[in-house]
Amino acid sequence: MRIKVAKNSGFCFGVEKAVNKAFDATKQNKENIYSLGPIIHNKQVIGKLMETGLDVVNSVEEVPHGRVIIRSHGVGKGIYDQAEAKDLTIIDTTCPFVRRIQNIVKDYYHKGFKIAVIGDPTHPEVIGINGWCDNKALIVQSESDIPKDLGHIEKLCIVVQTTMPLARFETLSEQLSQRADHVEKFDTTCFATKERQESAKELALEVDAMVVIGGYNSSNTQKLVDICKEIRPNSTFHIETASALNSHDFKDFKSVGITAGASTPEWIIQDVIKFLNKLNN
Ligand code: SF4
Repeated sequence: MRIKVAKNSGFCFGVEKAVNKAFDATKQNKENIYSLGPIIHNKQVIGKLMETGLDVVNSVEEVPHGRVIIRSHGVGKGIYDQAEAKDLTIIDTTCPFVRRIQNIVKDYYHKGFKIAVIGDPTHPEVIGINGWCDNKALIVQSESDIPKDLGHIEKLCIVVQTTMPLARFETLSEQLSQRADHVEKFDTTCFATKERQESAKELALEVDAMVVIGGYNSSNTQKLVDICKEIRPNSTFHIETASALNSHDFKDFKSVGITAGASTPEWIIQDVIKFLNKLNN
């Protein structure tokens, strides 16, 4: 069985930076270090961080004192204000791609634009972006989210969640644009996501089966699964760690491709490669 890993897979630079900063912070001092939500959507990495002293909390209110890590998804302005009011030390790992969206939203909101975010309203990144325009953004994930009674908008600024497929941004931003006189739209999708999706597609076309590694709650991993399933509907396997491969049978496949979401660390990818190599032996 031939095993091939996708050209672009695993940790993106934003996640790698966030995870390294978190490990550095716990190494310096393992007392009073908290993250607002899990740093990344990967249970195994979070487990390791917790072993080194990190506490995961859901809100600033839960932090008594010390240091608080803002994860790569970013947060709204109100969270910075709350942390400062409690005199907490902020370790900010907001990804620069997300920061760019927050800055656009902040600027255009202050210039009097209505803000539209194309994305999942329940995703932390989108919730954080909305927090830079007083939580007044119109959040649109599909055509049905565009209110029929929206009325005509004078000035509209459109941004998109970093992990949204480009095609969705193009369709929905086109529909939203018809409802406004003046539109400023920004393709704020992230190249790391695009690269991973394109590499997964290329590889799925080349091999008999695909193994997609990443958290079951990771949206960017789920998108890789969807892309691979379109090409390999019966031979795409989504796993979190190598042990989950035990329940799948690979004997009929001559070639297996491996890809991994942006929050999957290299050691988990290597474990999977080792596992598949063992099957070969
Ligand atoms: S997927 Fe893109 S936006 Fe998200 S953390 Fe990685 S580099 Fe940043």
